Amino acid sequence: MRFSSLITIAIALAACKRPRATVFGDKYFSHWDDRRVLCSMGADKAHHWSLDDLRAAIDRAAAEGSVIHTYGHAPTFDLDEYLPLFMYAHARGVDFVTYAELADRDHPRAGWAFSIDDTEVDTWYSWRDKLRAAGVHLTFFVAGYEDFTPAQRDELHKLAADGHDIEPHGLHHVQAVAYTEAHGVAAYITDDVVPDLAAFKRDGFSPKAFSYPFGNHTPEIDTAMLEHVQLVRGASSRSCY
Ligand SMILES: [Zn+2]
Repeated sequence: MRFSSLITIAIALAACKRPRATVFGDKYFSHWDDRRVLCSMGADKAHHWSLDDLRAAIDRAAAEGSVIHTYGHAPTFDLDEYLPLFMYAHARGVDFVTYAELADRDHPRAGWAFSIDDTEVDTWYSWRDKLRAAGVHLTFFVAGYEDFTPAQRDELHKLAADGHDIEPHGLHHVQAVAYTEAHGVAAYITDDVVPDLAAFKRDGFSPKAFSYPFGNHTPEIDTAMLEHVQLVRGASSRSCY
């Protein structure tokens, strides 16, 4: 056999072993290491990638023991679209991990960290049975926690009891970069983050992660935030790094 043919076969074999490259690049995976600024791919209905790309990303997480990150918003997210993908992940040994688990790092495994942002707690609660049946734990990044009714707070506690993670997304859902440009990083932390964390703690939650509204952040803001939480999450729609 000619040498060039052997090389062709070797390249083909290597390609077989490695999941194909997709829009889900390296930054959308985490590895249970000391990286504390995480990035997530938008998974609302208008997503520009194919479900084959997501299946390939799940394959990569399974092969590496890493975690793929996606996020959505209840008004524009189709849970039913993902139910077959959830089964696909389970079949490949990819578990559903929350940001609290990612912060603790005491049970590293192939995972899918799916988070939902904002305020639609009643809709999230309506997903309960489907999520339980699918064996899926989500992280809900909640904005404006203080404005929720006692009944909605009770819904959040019941979601937490199901194994979902309840984490903060800003007291006023302000754009961190715009706010810090106007008022400084310290004011952002004091005005929108510290009182938000306090409200969660008063209600018995133990926040460990924060997702930036609009995915808007900078390394300077990250440094200040990480004095207060273990992890911060950006979004593919904005500055993800
Ligand atoms: Zn948001």
